[in-house]
Amino acid sequence: MSRFWWNMRSLDEFAREKLTSLEARGLRRRLEPTARVDSIHVERAGRRLISFCSNDYLNLSQDPRVRAAAKAAIDRYGAGAGASRLVDGDHPLLGDLEHRLAAFKGAEAACVFGSGYLANSGIVPTLVGKNDLALVDELAHSCMRAGAKLSSAMTLVFRHNDLVHLSDLLAIHRPEHARCLIATDGVFSMDGDLAPLEDLKALARERDAWLLVDDAHGLGVLNAGHGSTVGHDIPLQMGTLSKAIGVYGGYVCASAPVIDLIKTRAASFIYTTGLPPACAGAAIAALDVIESEPGLVAAPLAKAQRFTTALGLPDAVSPIVPLIVGDARRAVALSRALEDEGFLVSAIRPPTVPEGTSRLRVTFTSAHPEAEIDRLAAALRRLTNDLRP
Ligand SMILES: *Cc1c(COP(=O)(O)O)cnc(C)c1O
Repeated sequence: MSRFWWNMRSLDEFAREKLTSLEARGLRRRLEPTARVDSIHVERAGRRLISFCSNDYLNLSQDPRVRAAAKAAIDRYGAGAGASRLVDGDHPLLGDLEHRLAAFKGAEAACVFGSGYLANSGIVPTLVGKNDLALVDELAHSCMRAGAKLSSAMTLVFRHNDLVHLSDLLAIHRPEHARCLIATDGVFSMDGDLAPLEDLKALARERDAWLLVDDAHGLGVLNAGHGSTVGHDIPLQMGTLSKAIGVYGGYVCASAPVIDLIKTRAASFIYTTGLPPACAGAAIAALDVIESEPGLVAAPLAKAQRFTTALGLPDAVSPIVPLIVGDARRAVALSRALEDEGFLVSAIRPPTVPEGTSRLRVTFTSAHPEAEIDRLAAALRRLTNDLRP
């Protein structure tokens, strides 16, 4: 047998052993083909379920106006961009989208990326490097850490929303570093809580640090749709087109020179193909809807608050409500029990969330009927009693 054969065997063995150990800890993940039926219903394994775990907060991925804009862009410009934007993939619709985003976020300019993940992976290393410091909230999205890692800046994690800890880290480490970036989510994706942006901004100013805020879960649902960052004068407002916008893609809004630098230097912008025209066209149509329908935009938060009230929880501050279960297997069991009652609420486990904080992450969209929200709350009350050890 060739050496190649042995290498393959050790590779498969490695994968199998790793999977067995993850399975034993309730951490094995499996894909479940899930077809969208309409704004809120999905079909999984032949069953129709009402989803309470989508990030499509305004149901715009299914909106006829957004779908029509995607089709029109394909019919006019084709299915793909064909190359990096710096080669010949700088589709005119991308420029239009960037103007719209910058205006909507109150910034001078914007840069659209292939996804939110790519945006953070590119922004951070463009702004900080070897002799610099990156301070990241411990619950900030994984791609923020990926960006910090790629940057080779000294990266320190501060306790979640803990200004005292952040201030201490700045006092100790800021003087030794040339540039400093503070990175956080505006709305935390697995917890639904908000960052104290004014305090963070004050601390950043005081210590000459730059503040990057990821608004993936704020755009389209908070502050009349403008997001968590708007009005706070945040120098780097990053976000995604993949959630409330209902499409796919990422962006950052900042001053003109910062955006020019990002377009010149960010690896995840340069060495990747431009966003397909359909995504840009659809995202522009989604922004049109957000700007013209304040009722639609206000609904997800109001629905989350109806749910937290029904369960006697603190008022939701975003459309994301975490129900912390603790043990990973228990979270999965609870999710399965809900599925038996026709609800899709996925279990979130480590390493997406810290060890011992496995949870159900319940999200609300404009189209969720109040009766279904009440039915979900009642099911959860009953099931969590049954499941108690
Ligand atoms: C989903 C998410 C991202 C990644 O965005 P994609 O466009 O899906 O790659 C980044 N940050 C946060 C906080 C997110 O929740």
